[in-house]
Amino acid sequence: MTQKLRNYVNGQWVVPTTKDYMTVVNPADESQLTTLPLSNTQDVDQAVQAASQAFPSWSKLPVNKRAEIMFNFQHLLVQNKTELARTVTLENGKALSESQGEVQRGIENVEFAAGAPTLIQGDTNSTVATNVEVANYRYPLGVVAGITPFNFPMMVPCWMFPMAIVMGNTFVLKPSEKAPLLTEKIVNLATAAGVPEGVLNVVYGTNEAVNGLLDHPEVKAISFVGSKNVGEHVYRRASQNLKRVQVLAGAKNHTIVLDDADIDDAVDKIIKSSFGSAGERCMATSVIELQDGIADQFISKYVQAAKELKMGSGLDETNFLGPVIRSEAQQRTFNYIEKGIAEGAQLLLDGRKNLPEKGYFVGPTIFDHVTPDMTIWQDEMFAPVVSIVRIQNLQEAVQVADQSEFANGACLFTDSAKSIRYFRENIDAGMLGINLGVPAPMAFFPFSGWKHSFFGTLTANGKDSVDFYTRKKVVTARHPFS
Ligand code: NAD
Repeated sequence: MTQKLRNYVNGQWVVPTTKDYMTVVNPADESQLTTLPLSNTQDVDQAVQAASQAFPSWSKLPVNKRAEIMFNFQHLLVQNKTELARTVTLENGKALSESQGEVQRGIENVEFAAGAPTLIQGDTNSTVATNVEVANYRYPLGVVAGITPFNFPMMVPCWMFPMAIVMGNTFVLKPSEKAPLLTEKIVNLATAAGVPEGVLNVVYGTNEAVNGLLDHPEVKAISFVGSKNVGEHVYRRASQNLKRVQVLAGAKNHTIVLDDADIDDAVDKIIKSSFGSAGERCMATSVIELQDGIADQFISKYVQAAKELKMGSGLDETNFLGPVIRSEAQQRTFNYIEKGIAEGAQLLLDGRKNLPEKGYFVGPTIFDHVTPDMTIWQDEMFAPVVSIVRIQNLQEAVQVADQSEFANGACLFTDSAKSIRYFRENIDAGMLGINLGVPAPMAFFPFSGWKHSFFGTLTANGKDSVDFYTRKKVVTARHPFS
């Protein structure tokens, strides 16, 4: 067990003023990993003040110098990949291979941020009128805060602070209280890479720490990734306080398999998408829509493949399916399984059976004949539970998927260019996959959920992240003597 976590303020790990702490456990064996301070508004204020004081000099440092630090940071992250991935698995439970993938994704964000000297460039127009030119320059906002979920303790913070700080902002990170260990490691590496005191700060905690950031007048923008209900609260409260806000929220992703798909390939990809990371991914397949001609054959192969998945601690590299994050998540999933049965769905595989004695495990669970009026179709379960819906054609599949309040991702398995175009043009979802299971875009494209999967205007990653973490100054100049 590591010692009590401390906040990171002005380049130091400091004991916060709060006396309230919570226990952090390993979800695979329920052992205690550490204790985490529940920072109060005073602790938040310390971190924000440090960030605020660091802003003037950091924002004036030439952008190529800031980018140089990102190059150093990238190098250190690559050197420490194995240790970082192990820590993710230890605290989150996901399979080691998934953690390695996550760490790699985080590193790609740092690589993208290292392109800051180009990304930060504005636009110019030399002749908007006779002897008049216009130039548009980008500037940082000031102190920016990030609030992150448990399911990607490396990747999601890396969606935020590398780009935010390389653009010249200073940052306060409030990591998930359920998976906080990795933060200390990446922050120490960022410091070793040359991030100066006060530029990157950390406050651990839950509601009070979050609300402290949402209310703090010195915080100019909020990046949030988490569940829909909390996301709504964050969006409303931060907007009310006149901050710039981006909220990436919950999901319920539909994957459509048409009769002309390659069944074995689809089964392989969808098994990984629906049960990888125990279904605790905002891009996981939650609903599979099967065209009638392929449905029975797909289901028999899919159920068989699910039965063969090996469950257990993610640190054992032979295991595919780790635990869900907490006993509450396990119990909530069991309740959903009961609800699915009560509402008339057909349970093909029951994940409540043959579970390890310790740890918050849920086995792969598959329901058939699910309909959009059922709770298991509507709610984000965030667990290895999949609903199958039978459909006659692509038009019907899209019409069913579009009834969801969520619209993060959607996938289509087909061999038809016509179907691909129809799907792209008609489905209400922000991130689409064609013949693949997890259409999570790379760091240089926006992570662009729609409907209740995203609140705001500018999403994470890609050019949107450059826009989100900068504001523009437009200079119109007349040169009467030229
Ligand atoms: P969560 O909403 O419970 O927590 C997210 C953050 O909000 C945490 O830092 C937590 O401390 C804080 N928080 C929780 N309750 C709060 C409250 N009442 N008031 C103020 N702050 C509060 O989410 P989670 O369970 O950690 O993560 C899973 C969720 O995140 C899922 O819904 C998933 O879909 C979503 N997610 C979305 C994306 C995306 O890109 N859209 C990516 C990853 C995860």
